[in-house]
Amino acid sequence: MGIDLGLKVPAVLVTSTGKTKFLGNGRKNKYIRRKYNSNRRKLGKLKKLSAIRKQRNKESRYMKDQNHKISRHIVNLAQHEGVSIIKLESLTHIRKTTRTSRKNAKNLHNWTFYQLQTFIGYKAAMAGIQVIEVNPAYTSQLCPACGVKNKAKDRTYQCSCGYSAHRDRVGAINIMRQPVIDGNSRSA
Ligand SMILES: [Zn+2]
Repeated sequence: MGIDLGLKVPAVLVTSTGKTKFLGNGRKNKYIRRKYNSNRRKLGKLKKLSAIRKQRNKESRYMKDQNHKISRHIVNLAQHEGVSIIKLESLTHIRKTTRTSRKNAKNLHNWTFYQLQTFIGYKAAMAGIQVIEVNPAYTSQLCPACGVKNKAKDRTYQCSCGYSAHRDRVGAINIMRQPVIDGNSRSA
């Protein structure tokens, strides 16, 4: 199984058995982040520091809850499909690759990705499924059908060979096919 993490679609997973699943609600997450940000700004003007902290905690709890739900869904589906290895993009590679520059957008909460990866990691470990981090280089660009590099212009990936799919699905397929980084696997 390969998983592509993002802001617009929190997680897209594909399995070698041909299943694709879009998980989470990026639009709602964005709305929630905006709401808490604007609440914090208002409170900032009034110097209500403990109220600001409360707002921040509420937002963290919301994202944590989302990450628990998404990771649970992923691991349940992996078990159901008889998946033995889950591949994720390595977060330590994130700044070095083009695909991740969009993920480093100013409103990105890196800790959210890290938390989701951690949750997937320990839930998978409990289910006896191995989680492996792979180098995400070019995973958003390679055509899964013919191997040519293209840059997705919008949410749809289009190749001159005729292949087209949601860009995050393409990412997940290429992550699934990506070789393992030397010994950089993690089971918890
Ligand atoms: Zn192609």
